[in-house]
Amino acid sequence: MCGVFGVFEHPEAVKLETIGLHGLQHRGQESAGIAWVNHRNLRLKKAMGLVFDVFPAPEGKPIRYKGRVAIGHTRYSTCGASRLENAQPHKAKTSDGQIALASNGDIVNLSSLKKMLEEKEVSFETDNDGELLVKMIAFYYEEFKSKESKCDIDYFRRMDWLVQAIKKTLKVAHGAISALVLTEHGELIAFRDLLGIRPLVYGYNLPSESWFFASETCALDPLGVDYQGEIQPGETMVLGKGINRFFYPSGKLAHCIFEHIYFSRPDGWVFGEYAAKVRMKLGGILAQEHPAKADFVVPVPDTAEYAAIGFSRVSGIPIMPGFTRSHYIGRTFIAHEQKIRDMGVRLKLNPVIELIKGKRIVIIDDSIVRGTTSRKIIRMAKQIKRRRLGAKEVHMRITSPPIKYPCFFGIDTPTQKELIASEYSVEEIRQHISADSLGYLSLKGLLSSVKNPKNYCTACFTGKYPMDVSEKFKTAK
Ligand code: AMP
Repeated sequence: MCGVFGVFEHPEAVKLETIGLHGLQHRGQESAGIAWVNHRNLRLKKAMGLVFDVFPAPEGKPIRYKGRVAIGHTRYSTCGASRLENAQPHKAKTSDGQIALASNGDIVNLSSLKKMLEEKEVSFETDNDGELLVKMIAFYYEEFKSKESKCDIDYFRRMDWLVQAIKKTLKVAHGAISALVLTEHGELIAFRDLLGIRPLVYGYNLPSESWFFASETCALDPLGVDYQGEIQPGETMVLGKGINRFFYPSGKLAHCIFEHIYFSRPDGWVFGEYAAKVRMKLGGILAQEHPAKADFVVPVPDTAEYAAIGFSRVSGIPIMPGFTRSHYIGRTFIAHEQKIRDMGVRLKLNPVIELIKGKRIVIIDDSIVRGTTSRKIIRMAKQIKRRRLGAKEVHMRITSPPIKYPCFFGIDTPTQKELIASEYSVEEIRQHISADSLGYLSLKGLLSSVKNPKNYCTACFTGKYPMDVSEKFKTAK
């Protein structure tokens, strides 16, 4: 999973880019990168770390990098190791100048596409899907250009070849793609896969007359940018000499429902719905499906907080913030060793024990993946290890159905054998996590919380993928 952010035509584009990317930090904390254009010079800086570590804003001084157009990326690795060479944006050369690309998503036929391009003498330095996309676009650009008889190269010809190259890329590269391209001439192009799996929005700032692109609307708000809408699934939007939009509708949509459950920030519009409201509905439906007799509803911070409000409203059980969360610890979910994941949960969450001891509590969390978090927090709430007085009963309620299948579209849910619900029944999981009861939201309940349920991908719960994923599935089993 990742975040992308773009700025078109602003004198402080790189500075605004850092602020926008910071607003998407929750989508990726491993590396940050920005590509920008200064006098036809396409520059790129990327490094491992958080946005403000990679691009510190010197107190009182303007940021060093000058440019009017920029694209940027924050990375959370799902495709390719967490290493600098896999950080985005990536660059590629065309015969009419360099292009850079930042993408959020995953490509399911990456290996075969890479092989196909390597046979045509395109070489790769990383195992990242962003590099594949930018090199593929550059490759098709030359193909389209070569079909035309010798002509003067002007803006309109370049854009025509680029748009055709993107269209062809969207046709052959299967998966989730919400991407931004920057040319060394200072054009910015936004495009999204035909199924609209990951979000991508744009907005406008009137005083500066600048356009902005972001994975989520929460990144636009701090810059005073008015949200205008989504880049449509299958759309390519070109900003250069004016704005041009090209649509290739697929007819079928597959927005990721996990964006609502977990990934997106609550303070924004995702697939046309306000994420916090969807989460409240999830909690309300969960309370109807799996009521519990308890003294308090306790959310696992931060994601489950809005769902807990929904649960509390419907059940009439008051909320108690029974866990605190350290905001100074990075993501533990993707650590490779179970010992480190266990330790990560202990560092991140701590029970506010005086408030919940001797009480019956309903803990609300968004998902159980491997079972690490639930097991740890229930044991902490009950003070099992410390043999002190903890919560008297813990009823675990989850705002998603059991995750049984891996995601290949940008959510880092691990191989199938690591997914606890793919191997064990709800009762077995309940015992494993030491809960007094365990209730998952049903698929029907989940889908009834969004306006257009038919437009969502629920493959992680059902195994019904919206495209052929056999190439990926071979390695994920
Ligand atoms: P686990 O501890 O493996 O069962 O993972 C479940 C916990 O991780 C929940 O508390 C979620 O909030 C969080 N979570 C779920 N999916 C992801 C993901 N793709 N990346 C990071 N954290 C996640």
